Amino acid sequence: MRAVVAEQFRKPMELMDVPVPEIGADDILVRPSACGICRTDWHVWNGDWVWGGLKLPLPITLGHEIGGVVDRVGANVKRLKPGMRVCVPFNFGDGDCPYCRKGLSNLCDNPAWGFTTPGSGGFAQLAKVPNADFNCIELPANVTEKDAAALGCRYMTSFRAVRTRSEVQGGETVVVVGAGGVGRSAVEIASALGALVVAIDTKDSALEAAKAVGANHAINSSGLTPEEVRESLDTLIGSRGADVAIDAMGGQNSTLTALHTLAKGGRLCVAGLTTQDDKGAITLPVDLMVFREWSLVGTLGNPHADYPELLRLVDSGKLQPGRLITEEVALADVQGVFDRLPTFETEGFVVVTDFN
Ligand SMILES: [Zn+2]
Ligand SMILES: [Zn+2]
Repeated sequence: MRAVVAEQFRKPMELMDVPVPEIGADDILVRPSACGICRTDWHVWNGDWVWGGLKLPLPITLGHEIGGVVDRVGANVKRLKPGMRVCVPFNFGDGDCPYCRKGLSNLCDNPAWGFTTPGSGGFAQLAKVPNADFNCIELPANVTEKDAAALGCRYMTSFRAVRTRSEVQGGETVVVVGAGGVGRSAVEIASALGALVVAIDTKDSALEAAKAVGANHAINSSGLTPEEVRESLDTLIGSRGADVAIDAMGGQNSTLTALHTLAKGGRLCVAGLTTQDDKGAITLPVDLMVFREWSLVGTLGNPHADYPELLRLVDSGKLQPGRLITEEVALADVQGVFDRLPTFETEGFVVVTDFN
C-alpha cells in the first residue's frame, strides 16, 4: 500500500510502498477516506514535546484524524464489519482499566496515540485500529467521513473543553483565546450551545474566520498585555468579565490572557500545551485566583463515551465540523503542507482526501 513515511525527525517524509499493517484478533484495518493534517503531526515529526515523555518510534506514518471505511476485521471483533463508515479517535484506550470502565478512555492507564502507534497513521491507504470494538466509532447516516476527519482531534478536543470540562450553558459569555483549529472549533461549539462568544487572536484573518463560525466579537491581542486585553473585553461586553475562558493555544501569554478575561467565579479550561520556551511550566497569579474564585481545569482529547452526543449534534446539523475544512490535498502533498505550517497559519483544516 502507499503511505507517507517519516524516517527521521525534520527530514522530508516520503510517499512510498510499504507492507499492509498486520492486525491482531482484536484489531481492524480502516481505509481512510479523509485524514486531517494536524499541527500535532508536525510537532512530533519536529521532535517536540519530548519533555512531556512523547517519543516517536521511527520510521512511522503520521495522520491521526481519520474518517474511513472498515476494510477487514480481526477474528474477535464483534461490533464492526467491513464496509461500515467509522471515525477513529486519536486516543486509543485498552477498554479495561478503571478509567476506560467509567467512560474516561482519554485518561486510560495504558493509552496509545494515533500519532505514535506504528501502522495506525492515516496518511496511508490502510490504517490499523487496535482493540477496535472499543476504539472505533460508527458514523450516523448524515455524518460524512470528511466530517469525521474534521472532528477527529481538534474539534472533539474542543467539544470536551466546552461541553464537558467547562459546562458552558446557553446565555453565558465564553472567551476563546487562539483562533486556530481548536479555537475555531470551540467558537462554533460554544455558539451552538447558545453562548455569547468572544474570540481573541493576534491575526485578523483568524479572527474573521472565527466570526464566520459564530464569534460575536473579536479582539486582536497583538502587542497587548493580558490586562490590556481585559480592558478591550470590558469595552465590548461590560466589565463583569467572561464566565468561561478556553485557552485553545497554551503557553504563558495565552493562559494568562485567558485567565484575566474571567469574571469572579469564572472557569478557565486549558486545551493547549505550553511552548518550547515554557517547557511545560508557566507562572500563575494564584492570589487573584483565590480572591476571584477562579478555577482552572485541563482537558485532554475526548473520551469515546462522549462521542454519541457529539455525533448526534453533527448528524442533526447543529454542529458542522466539515465547514472548517478549507483545503483538500493528496497523500503526495502532506510534506508540502508540513513545510508551510511553521510560517503559514492555516485558517482551517487541511484534509487528505486523495489516497492514490
Ligand atoms: Zn490532531
Ligand atoms: Zn483504559
